[in-house]
Amino acid sequence: GTEDISTPKRTKEIIARHGFSFKKSLGQNFLIDQNILHNIVKAADLTKEKGALEIGPGIGALTEKLAQQAGTVTAVEIDQRLIPILEEVLEPYPNVSVEHGDVLKVNLKELFARRFDGVSKVSVVANLPYYVTTPIMMKLLEEKLPLENIVVMIQKEVAQRMAASPGSKDYGSLSIAVQYYAEPRLVCTVPHTVFIPQPNVESAVIRLQVRDQPAVAVKNEQHFFEVIQASFAQRRKTIANNLKSKYFPKDGREQLEGLLQEAGIEPTRRGETLSMEEYARLSDVLLEAGI
Ligand code: SAM
Repeated sequence: GTEDISTPKRTKEIIARHGFSFKKSLGQNFLIDQNILHNIVKAADLTKEKGALEIGPGIGALTEKLAQQAGTVTAVEIDQRLIPILEEVLEPYPNVSVEHGDVLKVNLKELFARRFDGVSKVSVVANLPYYVTTPIMMKLLEEKLPLENIVVMIQKEVAQRMAASPGSKDYGSLSIAVQYYAEPRLVCTVPHTVFIPQPNVESAVIRLQVRDQPAVAVKNEQHFFEVIQASFAQRRKTIANNLKSKYFPKDGREQLEGLLQEAGIEPTRRGETLSMEEYARLSDVLLEAGI
């Protein structure tokens, strides 16, 4: 039989034979390490009853491993030049379908209905293009798709921010946005040497176990996230000062401090010390007061 797509030798052979040139602007760094690929796929807990959605299959290194573990695999690739390559190298895997498109523009609800109907659970598994990591992750989480988990390789700093707890330097609005929808776990960090070409940033694999219900109940989700954004606007400022800039630019400090107390939050605290539950309470109290 043929070698795995992801071995350095076969990867180089496929690239050379098709005259493929990497596009840095599309975040093209392909995986050539069996161990890392194994760890990524293992973290998704796939079985033949489950489905996998891959974003950015490249030349199919990860897609091949997903095809061996999952029942159904759909891979969405933006680069038209990769489509014929993928069709050729993935030919031995009839459970894989490759679609050409920008994942940020794809109608995922429609894709799920078409591709994962009758599949018990679906994972998103990807070595993401780093320039669009956050928009892709927020789209996957906000659309409330029937997902079991998301296992992705991303920039290490972004993974640390997603998994951060209150009080740590990495904790911010991204931590809360992700943890509202999912439970994060850092799987491993990854050296530059597992890619061709090698990226300039450090990478990590993160697993998000998607929650059945958001972590906290709030009266208005949009308001909740707006309060969080405002609270982190300037990290050195107290929560009272940040919220005052946003909601009481002229006066009303006393009213604001009263509302913070009502939510059980000392006005002198900083945004980075508040838990998600405290933000939920704060958002509800402000909303009740018409703010
Ligand atoms: N999965 C392959 C691997 O691990 O070897 C390739 C990973 S590479 C880091 C990212 C891939 O995402 C590239 O193939 C790139 O063309 C593709 N890509 C970039 N932006 C995309 C987008 N908006 N939608 C879909 N795919 C995208």
